[in-house]
Amino acid sequence: MAKVWFIGAGPGSPDLLTIRGAKLISEADIVIWARSLVHEDVLQHASPTAEIIESTDIPLEAVRELYERAVREDLRVARVHSGDPTIYGATMEQIERCDEIGLDWEIVPGVSSMGAAAAAIGRELTIPEVSQSIIITRRASRTPMPNNEDIKRFAEHGTTMAIFLSAAKPRALQQDLLEGGYETDTPCAVVYRATWPDQEIIRCRLDELADRIRLSGFTRQAMILIGPGLGSGGTRSHLYDPDFSHMFREAEKGADAAAS
Ligand code: SAH
Repeated sequence: MAKVWFIGAGPGSPDLLTIRGAKLISEADIVIWARSLVHEDVLQHASPTAEIIESTDIPLEAVRELYERAVREDLRVARVHSGDPTIYGATMEQIERCDEIGLDWEIVPGVSSMGAAAAAIGRELTIPEVSQSIIITRRASRTPMPNNEDIKRFAEHGTTMAIFLSAAKPRALQQDLLEGGYETDTPCAVVYRATWPDQEIIRCRLDELADRIRLSGFTRQAMILIGPGLGSGGTRSHLYDPDFSHMFREAEKGADAAAS
């Protein structure tokens, strides 16, 4: 039956594609991919007879025509997105088109660049008693931000932020983050092209962030992470605390009490 799979290809390195994603690509009649964001080796999974289409130049209208063709000709389509398709993936507008034309669809999750960037700097983004929330956001560009989603207001929470799509105007970003209330020495990391061979990492304080990004020349494909959690340690989770009982492990104290 005709169907589109929106497949997360991961942040770059082709071995971060999921096994499910690879299998679906291998079974597809049409593979649509974005050359600038997805590693070419992801296409190695495609069947030699598959039609390969580069998505960068095709507007939504043309995608709709393609999907209509998939319905007519009973084709399987693998639409390969960078990272995880559910984060800044422009998948929803395609799903709406699919629903309009009666084309079945499914989302296949992928490794987001947020996780890849955190792994590259070797940090967990949630540190017990320091920051237990992650705000995933971006600054406005050609895509405006909804009124109540101002970075300054998000900064007021003082937790970890993963900022996508926002390296092009680092001064304004730094200012918003400071005005929102982060301390000047809040740890920041910028990971450029996480998991690609030319990956680069900047680690700095918030008051150095704009200068460091400017100096590096990164404007695209950079993940900006910020928050006190990026520099903290010394706290421990309850999960591996022997005094804390959870589903899979009896608290040692309790076990001792039962034995005596
Ligand atoms: N769906 C993707 C995000 C697409 S939006 C995901 O889940 O990762 C594109 C933005 O994602 C870029 O501007 C950048 O902020 C981030 N990004 C994508 N790939 C990246 C990579 N390899 N390294 C760092 N940031 C990346």
